[in-house]
Amino acid sequence: MPSPAELFSKSLPPVTTHSVTDDHRDKAESLWKSELANATTSVSGLLGKLKLEQYIKHTDSQPDFRCLVTESYLDKIEVGNIGDPLLLQVLPSTLENDFATQENGTTDPVGDLDAQVTQGLLHKYHGRALLINTGACAIHCRYCFRRAYPYQKSSCTSRTLNDALTYLNDHTEIEEIILSGGDPLILDNDKLSAIINKLEDIQHIQTLRIHTRIPVVLPNRITTGLLQLLQASRLQVVMVIHANHANELQSNESAKLRLLHQAGIILLNQSVLLKNVNDNTDALIALSKRLFECKTLPYYLHLLDPVKGTMHFKTNKISAQALIQKITAQLPGYLVPKLVQEIAGSQSKTAIFHI
Ligand code: SF4
Repeated sequence: MPSPAELFSKSLPPVTTHSVTDDHRDKAESLWKSELANATTSVSGLLGKLKLEQYIKHTDSQPDFRCLVTESYLDKIEVGNIGDPLLLQVLPSTLENDFATQENGTTDPVGDLDAQVTQGLLHKYHGRALLINTGACAIHCRYCFRRAYPYQKSSCTSRTLNDALTYLNDHTEIEEIILSGGDPLILDNDKLSAIINKLEDIQHIQTLRIHTRIPVVLPNRITTGLLQLLQASRLQVVMVIHANHANELQSNESAKLRLLHQAGIILLNQSVLLKNVNDNTDALIALSKRLFECKTLPYYLHLLDPVKGTMHFKTNKISAQALIQKITAQLPGYLVPKLVQEIAGSQSKTAIFHI
């Protein structure tokens, strides 16, 4: 997986003679790239910034899935609070390597690799296919279900994109394409636009869905250039963001989500039910209400996919059902996410109904 610095060291736009508008646009694009390049990648650095150095022995300071936290995300974590629900999502813990805790974890619990039809193109469900164009993210979530995904050999590259397009052309039942990763919004506007343009040429594709955590962890990526690019597409754009806790959505995130909404993009959220992060009624209700203020509807609440290294976040299914029942009693139906589990080989996500 390339580092943010590697991703952008060669791709920053060259300095040329620009108008004021161009300069403004270039500044907005370089702002998020520079934040990404300067993200915190050291566990001791992360603890130091939060005045939590004394907890270093409870962390893995050299994790295989490295530490990566943007400044925007770090700013939302409470200084001095080792139990902060945002910090728990990004701090590499010694539990990730604890044999007993991780014993039942696997590397591909949702059957991604079995669903791969060309390099980086996954066709699991009727009518939609998922394209993995990058393994890079703006943040490394410790519970990530793709933390062991072999991005090097199973991502769609400029060399293999034609294979994916040929498959999509041949499968006229596919009306929706999902850009996923990694995080597809980590690609700069030129790369994103090149992919979207090719997808637009396939007449039976009507919907572009973007799965991204970037509006939550690197909101400055939502630039005028990106909004214009998405707004100009003939495809209906649906953005499924990923927030797990209301504290993740503060004023900058809210402002950017509102801009996306104003640009005609349908906004949905998917969360993962995470032990000690959001596995209580108050946290889930606050999240749904905050999402609504940000023009975003709760879509899925996932049970944790059993990935090795993430099992310390696992909650139990019965208490998850009870939680959904409690929030259903307190919220309008449109603010209650669907509790789901992804089971490899199934025709769709599996809904977990109330007890
Ligand atoms: S942003 Fe998504 S893909 Fe990236 S580490 Fe987090 S959960 Fe995984």
